[in-house]
Amino acid sequence: NLQSTKTLANGVEMPRLGLGVYKMTDRDETLQAITTALDLGYRAIDTAALYYNEEEVGEAIRNSSVARGDIFVTTKVWNSDQGYDNTLRAFETSLKKLDMDYVDLYLTHWPVEGKFVDTYHAIERLYDEKLIRVTGVSNHHEHHLQQLLVNCNVAPMVNQVELQPYLNQAELHAFCKEHNIGVTAWSPLGRGQILNDDTIVRIANEYSVSPAQVIIRWHLQNDIIVIPKSVTPSRIKENSEIFHFELTEVTMQEINALNRNERFGQNPDSFKFDF
Ligand code: NAD
Repeated sequence: NLQSTKTLANGVEMPRLGLGVYKMTDRDETLQAITTALDLGYRAIDTAALYYNEEEVGEAIRNSSVARGDIFVTTKVWNSDQGYDNTLRAFETSLKKLDMDYVDLYLTHWPVEGKFVDTYHAIERLYDEKLIRVTGVSNHHEHHLQQLLVNCNVAPMVNQVELQPYLNQAELHAFCKEHNIGVTAWSPLGRGQILNDDTIVRIANEYSVSPAQVIIRWHLQNDIIVIPKSVTPSRIKENSEIFHFELTEVTMQEINALNRNERFGQNPDSFKFDF
């Protein structure tokens, strides 16, 4: 059901479905989207300092009837704030904006060359100080993770990467699994651009569900945590109605075969850190 969780390396339960809030900049729209999601039973919100809506995330959660402790909040340190001391400061700012005592999961947003290892060390410290419940990173390739694994005391427990049927990240996922790192898919719907894929549409018709529901269900059955974004109440609802059906192994393989290593976002290895 909607409250189903994945047990992370340290035993913390992370909801398998959450609401992503990237590009939600309108205050009322953001408050309404999060409120709608929480009312429907979503229990995870994925934000970032970069999204400039941490205040709204905090406010919507405080005003909801769901206890803070029942909601899993993720935020991220932006690229221009990386390095050890900067990350600690950026975290303090995020915590203030959220107006919370702790964050569930704090991520390095992108692996800034020369800084991402120190950034992660700061995240380890926040974990030791119990200001975050789970450590993690985002947009880390295997080679970035390798660098962290040889340098850290607490291995990252989550890696959030672009992952959708055209970029299924099978190798990275296998590596993460081997190291007990949970994988979260960002742009799980390919920013909405793969919803009219012929195969996806045909499967949706076969199962009498929507293309978005097929894709979200595919993620879950592949043991991927998903954070689809929408501000539209009917879509927020639709994206959560994915627990009443199951894709067969044949269908899963069909969607797995759509992989063509096509990104809609940037490749971490060629990301332009222009600040
Ligand atoms: P997404 O794949 O979730 O697609 C969202 C878009 O798809 C919506 O704007 C809407 O146009 C459409 N959509 C959503 N539900 C639909 C439905 N049921 N029917 C039809 N259309 C629908 O893309 P996203 O917003 O890029 O990614 C989701 C979240 O991932 C973000 O909000 C953010 O939290 C996170 N993210 C993280 C990073 C990172 O670097 N870590 C990068 C991008 C996004």
